[in-house]
Amino acid sequence: MTVDACGAVYLAKVPGLADDLIEEHTDDGKGRCRGCPSQTHGMPQHPCNIRLLADAAASIRRTWIRRGQLDTVVPARIVQHLAAMDRDEDEAGQDGAMPIR
Ligand SMILES: [Zn+2]
Repeated sequence: MTVDACGAVYLAKVPGLADDLIEEHTDDGKGRCRGCPSQTHGMPQHPCNIRLLADAAASIRRTWIRRGQLDTVVPARIVQHLAAMDRDEDEAGQDGAMPIR
């Protein structure tokens, strides 16, 4: 199986996404992926396509970090967007209520 290089690069640009996918798409102990159950075809063989893509993305990201290129390849707007999402989640609190400022 070949990994979609464009997809891996895209995934690598989103902080934490590849790591989250790697954490979810693991071997269930029987050689199947516990991260992508399917009602029609059963659980796919591990590593599934998503895991392969996430592994490639994580490798690309590590290379960018090692070379000090992360800031130049990840658009600032993605970083700002994700930071805003984190802020929104923090402010929403456990019950989803907005904080009093
Ligand atoms: Zn999977």
